[in-house]
Amino acid sequence: MNSDALYHNAKKIATLCHENNIRLVAVTKVLCGNPEIANIYLEAGADAIGDSRIQNIIRMKENGVKGPFMLIRIPMISEIPYVVENVDVILVSEIGTLKEISKYASKMRKKQKVLYMVDVGDLREGVWYPKAVDEIIEAASISSIELYGIGTNLGCYGGVIPDEDRMNVLIEVAKAVGKKGVRVNVISGGNTAAIQLIENGTLPSAINEYRIGEAIALGTDITNGKTFSFLRQDTFVLESEVVEVKVKPSVPQGKIGKDSMGRTPHFEDKGMRLKAIVALGEQDIASDGVIPTEKGIEVLHASSDHMVLDVTECKREIKVGDTVKFNLKYSALLRAMTSTYVEKIWNESDRQKEN
Ligand SMILES: *Cc1c(COP(=O)(O)O)cnc(C)c1O
Repeated sequence: MNSDALYHNAKKIATLCHENNIRLVAVTKVLCGNPEIANIYLEAGADAIGDSRIQNIIRMKENGVKGPFMLIRIPMISEIPYVVENVDVILVSEIGTLKEISKYASKMRKKQKVLYMVDVGDLREGVWYPKAVDEIIEAASISSIELYGIGTNLGCYGGVIPDEDRMNVLIEVAKAVGKKGVRVNVISGGNTAAIQLIENGTLPSAINEYRIGEAIALGTDITNGKTFSFLRQDTFVLESEVVEVKVKPSVPQGKIGKDSMGRTPHFEDKGMRLKAIVALGEQDIASDGVIPTEKGIEVLHASSDHMVLDVTECKREIKVGDTVKFNLKYSALLRAMTSTYVEKIWNESDRQKEN
């Protein structure tokens, strides 16, 4: 983990947002709510920390992260007591859930802020937009609840690319709610996939909050298939240890069924190849989300605890006990940060700074 690179990215994104009158919620869900990284984000100018898991938020608070905190996954009824106690803003999309929140909030003599989610096309959470106005008006009338704002999420589930049209759908909902006498102060329009609207100047000015995870953590935007030139991509490197090196055929012998994950693996016949196994598996990474940092190493396939590499073309002679390093895509970073088997350490220069 590289704190300089993480700080750089958070600062750049915070500046970009603030110059456009956008509040930045820095999202830590891909980092398993790492408290040190959350503090780096806040120091760099993030206005709040967003996470999808209440356990992560509680752990961050216990480790001295000040917040404020936003719970960015609509809550389970069963976790509401913990959520109301620990979260400043809750994303919601169900009146029934909101009534439960209201019960606990009134017990705690708290006015609970909520961000009502509107589905403008990606088909994940939120009230379907033609029905949104009445539902939001009803939500705002519930006691002990303060309507903090409305929001939408695009790109994550349906892969819908955020654009001006989708944003305007959300803004129209806010206006219609306003006409019925309920002020909507915050319109939370975007995640990483929506950064390009700021860059190319097509973001409607009414959008005043973004919730951003991937761009800060990795410097990439997977929905639009791009890398941000003003951000760093050297934020995380995963090291693994080689446990076997042998020459073997490139195609398995015997009848082929499904692998341990229920997938049908495909193998290209390249004859005999030099293969290395590293002690890393689907439990720790997504094998299609790891990129070897060294030329000549190819990731072939992984089961739960073994990942097989083709190292035939690698200039270095790879031996058992050696280390192989990888850059991570979103899917692999998510698992690596969550896996208790992957040790999280700051890189050398960071460690020197601490001493
Ligand atoms: C994950 C998530 C985000 C952040 O998305 P990134 O693509 O990582 O920027 C924002 N809002 C919600 C509701 C999310 O679930």
